[in-house]
Amino acid sequence: MGKQTILIVEDEEDIQELVRYHLVREGYQVLRADTGEEGLAQAESQLPDLLILDLMLPGLNGLEVCKRLKNQAATQDIPIIILSAKGEEADIVTGLELGADDYVTKPFGPKELIARVKAVLRRMEAPGEQAHVVRLHNIVIDPDRYEVTVSGEKRDLTVTEFGILYALARHPGRVFTRSQLVDAVHGDNYVVSDRAVDVQITGLRRKMGHSGKYIETVRGVGYRMRDRS
Ligand code: CA
Repeated sequence: MGKQTILIVEDEEDIQELVRYHLVREGYQVLRADTGEEGLAQAESQLPDLLILDLMLPGLNGLEVCKRLKNQAATQDIPIIILSAKGEEADIVTGLELGADDYVTKPFGPKELIARVKAVLRRMEAPGEQAHVVRLHNIVIDPDRYEVTVSGEKRDLTVTEFGILYALARHPGRVFTRSQLVDAVHGDNYVVSDRAVDVQITGLRRKMGHSGKYIETVRGVGYRMRDRS
């Protein structure tokens, strides 16, 4: 397999250089763009394996770039990791809902970003979305039987709780916004308040007992299943 190519779209030179340095060291080929327009053009012409996209860009901003890439057949499957500043949670939520795969908040450590890059690329290689048994930590989820066990003990979940747990657990480490969780459980266009999702999560955690801690709250953004113990 050839080197995987990663495009960084970031107007801050220091950050762009730092990210480039660490990606190259990890064996990736790196492309760079300083503006949204340039990033969009490079993504369309080079079709990188992954895009690291800053939100605050001069001209076309990161969300707009994300939206355009996700609306074109040729580029919609390029995974995107958003770079955001502290306090941009609302934009992160919008970005994830537009189809970005993950995000990293500035200031970040290179190790953290590299770990996210690897995790996203790994998920891209993973087989599709067929229902399958998920084993994670001490939890086993069997979607055919609608059965959940924690350390071998059966847990009685509602259909909604089950759906939320299954969505989170089959993509460990990935952050889901509340509306993405609702979509995963009920399909698109089903409107539920954020508060209702929080109530479901609270019930789910309680029923999972000690293992409820693996369902993590990501402040201002949503929820994720911890991928490491
Ligand atoms: Ca910026």
